Amino acid sequence: MNLILLGPPGAGKGTQAELIIERFNIPHISTGDIFRAAIKEGTPLGVKAKEYLDSGQLVPDEIVVGIVQERLKQNDCKSGFLLDGFPRTIPQADVLGEFLKGLKQNITAVINIEVDFEVLMARITGRRLCRNCGAVYHIQNKREKTEGVCDHCGGEIYQRDDDLPETVKKRLQVYQNQTEPLISYYSEKQILKSFDGQEPIAVLFQKICDALEG
Ligand code: AMP
Repeated sequence: MNLILLGPPGAGKGTQAELIIERFNIPHISTGDIFRAAIKEGTPLGVKAKEYLDSGQLVPDEIVVGIVQERLKQNDCKSGFLLDGFPRTIPQADVLGEFLKGLKQNITAVINIEVDFEVLMARITGRRLCRNCGAVYHIQNKREKTEGVCDHCGGEIYQRDDDLPETVKKRLQVYQNQTEPLISYYSEKQILKSFDGQEPIAVLFQKICDALEG
């Protein structure tokens, strides 16, 4: 099962990704996570990527594409993968298609999660994370028990720089201009499956499974 998760920032891709990879036993490849890890470790990639992430812009295609290709060549991707946050532009999708063709593979399905703009803004700007274990909290409906302290590991709770309101607006604009065209791109290839991302997590997950397994 070679899958792509498509949807604006805040659509819940990360949450569904965790459930999907467990169900189908495939690796989760999140380009956002790869960049955040590189920034945290201060690698040359992290240094290059930081200014783009902080300002809500896309990292240039030539940097992203190489990283994903290297990852897809690894053994654990032989029996499938879930791409989350990639492709994000038509050129990235073209390169991915060609690359998979070279490996005699293709994309099984593109899972497109749709959510209204106002809901996305509230979801992202209220999101908080644990700096240590990555646990996700929300100021509206999932607060930590002791303010600023992770319930699971005692780590510090923080807000991602790119979750600040001005940056979120920028990220949503970038999504509309550069990533949304992928919806028609994959729809024309007849592999697009769209879902309402405002449904409860478990309901949405069940619908995704039904569509993939049915
Ligand atoms: P995400 O966690 O998927 O929202 O990604 C966070 C940030 O990483 C984005 O705002 C971009 O700056 C960068 N990024 C992640 N994936 C890509 C991609 N496929 N192409 C370009 N930039 C990306």
